[in-house]
Amino acid sequence: HTGKYLVTGGAGYIGSVVAAHLVEAGHSVTVLDDLSTGFRGAVPEGAAFVEGRLQDARRVLDSSYDGVLHFAAHSQVGESVQDPGKYWRNNVGGSIELLDAMREAGVRRLVFSSTAATYGEPLTTPIHEDASEAPTNPYGASKLAVDHMIGGECRAHGLAAVSLRYFNVAGAYGRYGERHDPESHLIPIVLQVAQGRRDAVSVFGDDYPTPDGTCVRDYIHVADLAEAHLLAMAAMTGGGEGAGEVAGGAHLICNLGNGNGFSVREVVETVRKVTGHPVPEAAAPRRDGDPAQLVASAERAVKQLGWRPSRTDLAEIVQDAWDFTQRYAGTAGAE
Ligand code: UDP
Repeated sequence: HTGKYLVTGGAGYIGSVVAAHLVEAGHSVTVLDDLSTGFRGAVPEGAAFVEGRLQDARRVLDSSYDGVLHFAAHSQVGESVQDPGKYWRNNVGGSIELLDAMREAGVRRLVFSSTAATYGEPLTTPIHEDASEAPTNPYGASKLAVDHMIGGECRAHGLAAVSLRYFNVAGAYGRYGERHDPESHLIPIVLQVAQGRRDAVSVFGDDYPTPDGTCVRDYIHVADLAEAHLLAMAAMTGGGEGAGEVAGGAHLICNLGNGNGFSVREVVETVRKVTGHPVPEAAAPRRDGDPAQLVASAERAVKQLGWRPSRTDLAEIVQDAWDFTQRYAGTAGAE
C-alpha cells in the first residue's frame, strides 16, 4: 500500500534518488531541504518541496504522515575534521529537532541515512553490524551519535527505526546523480578526468597492504541503495519482504554494500574502458584517515529487509555515472 512520507535532504544526491523511487512507487512525498548543498532541480516532479532546515520539520509534519526518511546532513569527512562544530550542530542538533517534531506529530517510523564511517578502521573484513564502532572523524562520530539517539527514542517512546549504513555510494539514476562542489569522491573525479575537465587523478597511496597497493572500497549503486530504503519503510508498515517486521520500539541497523571490493586502480581502469578516454594517473601521498580496505557484509539487509542488489558490476555503476555526467551534471537541474 502507498503512504505519505517526509524526505529530509531530498534535493541531495541520495535523497533525490530515494524520493524519485518513492514517487514512482505511488507514494506521496514532501521534500524538506535547505538547499545548502542540494539543488532545487533535483527534487523529483510530483514531490512537494519545502525549503527549510530540520528545525522547520515541526511546521511540516502532522499525523497524516506515515514516516520520515532522513538524509539531511553534512557529509564531507575532510570538512568535518576542519570544522567539527558544524557537524555536531547540524547533523546531531538537527536530528534532535526532527525526532522531537516526529514525536509531537505522532509520526512513528524513521529510516536514517547512516554510514560505514561509524565503524572507523575495521578490525575484520567484511564488516558486520556487530563490529566495534570507533569513528575516526567527526562526520562518522556525528552519524553514530544520531544512531544512538534514535535507539534511545525507540526504547523510550516507541519509535520504529531502521538505520542504513552506506559504504561507497556511486552511479546515478537517470537525471539524479552526484555533483559536489568541490568534488572529493573518486568516481566523479575520475570521470572529470575522462571528460578533460581535470588533467589527472591523484592516486592517494599505492603501498597499502592490498593486491595492487591502492585502497579497496565497496561501491554500491545508488538505485540498489534506494530500493533498500523502500524495503526498510515497508518492514515498518507491514508490507515488508524480509524475515522480520520492525515494530514500534525496535531499531534495526543494516549495512548496505555490494560485498565486493574494488581498488582505486580498478576504478580508474574501469573508467578508461567505459568511457574510451585516456585517464592519466599521478601518484600522491596517502590521505589522512583512509583505511586500506572497507568492504561490507550486507547479509542482514538481505535477510531482514529482503534486499536484492542487482547492479553490482562496477562497469554498470560507472556507466550510469558517466551517462549522468555527460547529460546532466552542470546543466539541467544544477541551478
Ligand atoms: N581517492 C583517490 N584519489 C582521489 C579521491 C579518492 O585515490 O582523488 C581514493 C581514496 O583515498 C579512497 C578511495 O579513493 O581510498 C575512495 O575515496 P572516496 O573519497 O570516493 O570515498 P571514501 O572511501 O573516502 O568514503
